[in-house]
Order: sequence, then structure tokens, then C-alpha cells
Amino acid sequence: MPELPEVETTRRGIAPHVEGREITEVIVRQARLRVPVPADLVERLVGARICELARRAKYLLLPLEGEASGTLLWHLGMSGSLRIARLGELPKKHDHLDLVLDDGAILRYHDPRRFGFVDWLAGSAEQDPRLARLGPEPLSEAFGGERLFARSRGRRLAVKPFLMDNAVVVGVGNIYAAEALFLAGIDPRRAAGRISRARYVRLAAAVREVLAAAITQGGTTLRDFVGGTGEPGYFKQRLNVYGRDGQPCRRCGAELRLITLGQRASVFCGHCQT
Ligand SMILES: [Zn+2]
Repeated sequence: MPELPEVETTRRGIAPHVEGREITEVIVRQARLRVPVPADLVERLVGARICELARRAKYLLLPLEGEASGTLLWHLGMSGSLRIARLGELPKKHDHLDLVLDDGAILRYHDPRRFGFVDWLAGSAEQDPRLARLGPEPLSEAFGGERLFARSRGRRLAVKPFLMDNAVVVGVGNIYAAEALFLAGIDPRRAAGRISRARYVRLAAAVREVLAAAITQGGTTLRDFVGGTGEPGYFKQRLNVYGRDGQPCRRCGAELRLITLGQRASVFCGHCQT
């Protein structure tokens, strides 16, 4: 599933090919995505110019200027990907939507499970209810240990689901929550309200570290966004705990444990994480 680093990598990968370009044609092959493709999307987009791409949490934002200025809100869902296809390159199965650009390149959306969507926002993107209630970006100044400490006081919720709450901080999915808690040495089951300020400072640093490493690694796959092989390779990181239950901890050698926490599988080291 595309997590924040993959969405950020997608933004960086496609931006040089689409920014400043005019949309000359929109081809919708499958309108039944998680949110149906708006009926007037083609009319709105043709002739519009794409401005600087942005990302908020796991949403890609494509601001457009033209007769109908606004923003395309794109979510990759469980299995969506965007890539640049060349003029004349035939669509494959599950290639649901094309934006044809004035230089002949095509921004092509592929999504086998169709949990992703594209929607049109006429007003300011920040005021859309899907974005307005989101917490800070984990790599921004607004996020840090102090915020985690303040937001967690009195909370009996386990720290892992607390960290995955989009109102606390956005984009920390299951993989990165598990990895950050391991780096910070915190037991994922511990009540969020019982963790000290100093440990939250370490946890915030660990969150930044795992996300930044994934984005850096994603940078090596940027060429995959153009032409050739099809789907951009969502990268496999060297993970310490996620998906490694039953295997030895890389730090102490103890067998990693699998538990269910907030309906999600959680792997951790009972020796290193307290
Ligand atoms: Zn260990």
C-alpha cells in the first residue's frame, strides 16, 4: 500500500514532467473508483495548466489554473500508482485515467483494486474537510516530541494506535509506526499517557528518521516513473520489525513477537522495547 514516502516519491517523480504543462485531453476508462470520477472532470481539466504539485498526508494535490482554477485531489488508495507514459503507449489493464499533456506525455493512473480516487476541489484545498482536520506533517517543524507529549496526556490508548492517529500526526502508517517504536525502544502496547516527554522526543526523532530514510531510498526509483516497465517500484526497505515476527531482533537476537493492537498486526521486541 502506498504510504507517505511512496506518495512523496510519486510527487517528486512526476512533478518535473507535469508542472507547467497544459492538459489537452482527459481519458476516463473507468469512472467507478472509491469516489466516482466527477462527471464534469473532463470539461474542467481540458485547457488547464498544472501548477506546483504538493502533498498533504497521503493526498497528492495538483493545483490547476485556467478558466476553472482549482485543485485535483488524488489519493492512491491501496494499490494506485501514477506514472508518465509516452504518446502512443497503449494502456494496460487497470489503467483507469489519462491526463494527456501538451508535450504528448501522459500522466496515467493505474489502480487494480480501485480504492484510490481523484476529485476536484473548486475552493482552497486546505478547507476541504478531508484535509482540514489533519494533524501536522511528520517532517515539518509543527511536529515533534513536545506535541506528542502534550496530546497524549490522560490517554489510555496504546502508543502505537495513538501514533497512527491522523489528528496527532499524519502519514505514520503501520510499517513506520512499528519501525519508529523499535528505534525509540518503546513497547507499542504502552499507554500513550504514561510515556515521558524525553521518550516522546526520541520517538518523534525516530518517526522522522524512518520516513526520511524511506523517501531517500524512494529517490533511487524515480526513473521508474517514466516509460518502460509499468508500475513504479514501491521500494522495500530494510525493516527491523515490520513483517519479521518469529525472526531474531537485529539488536539483541531475541525472537520478535506478533500481537494485534488496534486491529492491526504489530511486531516488536519484548526485550528492547519497554
Ligand atoms: Zn531486541
